[in-house]
Amino acid sequence: MEKRFVDLHIHTTASDGTLTPQEVVERAIKLSISAIGIADHDTANGLDPALRAVKGRGLEIVPAVELSASEDDTDIHVLGYLIDYHNPKFVSVAERLCRVRYERGVKMVEKLNELGIGIKMEMVKDIAGEAAIGRPHVADALLRGEYVKSYDEAFARYLGYHAPAYVPKYKLTPKEAIDLIHSVNGLAVFAHPGLVHKDDLIPKFVELGLDGLEAFHPQQGYYVTNHYIDLANYYGLLYTGGSDCHGTRKGKILMGSVKMPYSCLEALRKKRKELKKWRADNLAV
Ligand code: AMP
Ligand code: FE
Ligand code: FE
Ligand code: ZN
Repeated sequence: MEKRFVDLHIHTTASDGTLTPQEVVERAIKLSISAIGIADHDTANGLDPALRAVKGRGLEIVPAVELSASEDDTDIHVLGYLIDYHNPKFVSVAERLCRVRYERGVKMVEKLNELGIGIKMEMVKDIAGEAAIGRPHVADALLRGEYVKSYDEAFARYLGYHAPAYVPKYKLTPKEAIDLIHSVNGLAVFAHPGLVHKDDLIPKFVELGLDGLEAFHPQQGYYVTNHYIDLANYYGLLYTGGSDCHGTRKGKILMGSVKMPYSCLEALRKKRKELKKWRADNLAV
């Protein structure tokens, strides 16, 4: 049988990807991917359209989310896999996070205006459409207004962490993110730890119930990936991987560039089942 592979980290237009959920599905089918994890920033709104688009076509959709959390001013992204994303508690937290993202967009535009840049929130809204607003949408507005020549320049000059129009956003603590994911029967995975450079935090996250590390990522090379596989084994965690595809926003479309064996998804499913049973047996209702 042909080897089946999965890509567990993909963004859509529900957050800062440029491909709609339908376009993501079409491309994944063309690439013969068996399952894709749709993991938008702070929202699960891409999942139902993707599920409608795959009906009867063989591609599996792994319900996921990428929550922004913060620890000591460091951005920590926590992936939630196999979440019950229609759970009302999850929906209400996600809606709150998206409102906060909108308000932060307004603040970034104000800061840019103070710097003499004439973009308007309307432009950002027009670019973002229904999406949870993020810096990439503001970067696109800067590009469209010809205030910068490239997406990278927009981050380097204005929107990056130490740049003048950067506005931090309200974020969950890692504990809140992990607890939220667990409360909807999901598995919590530390996204692209190799880009964060805070391995010292991993033991604490393990204490909080972290389930896995994202070892495979386009910006994590061979040695970094092996390092996180070793750490995952040491702490008894799972390891996952995905392309972190944002459509064309980061240049070429990365979907399928990170190929995880199907067994990676099966391991997530197995652990979810075990955790669900353990909670039912051990936690008082
Ligand atoms: P936000 O969640 O609104 O703070 O935006 C974070 C997103 O912006 C990330 O997920 C990336 O897609 C993108 N991003 C962050 N930093 C950079 C950068 N220096 N260059 C290009 N894209 C970036
Ligand atoms: Fe992103
Ligand atoms: Fe991320
Ligand atoms: Zn991502």
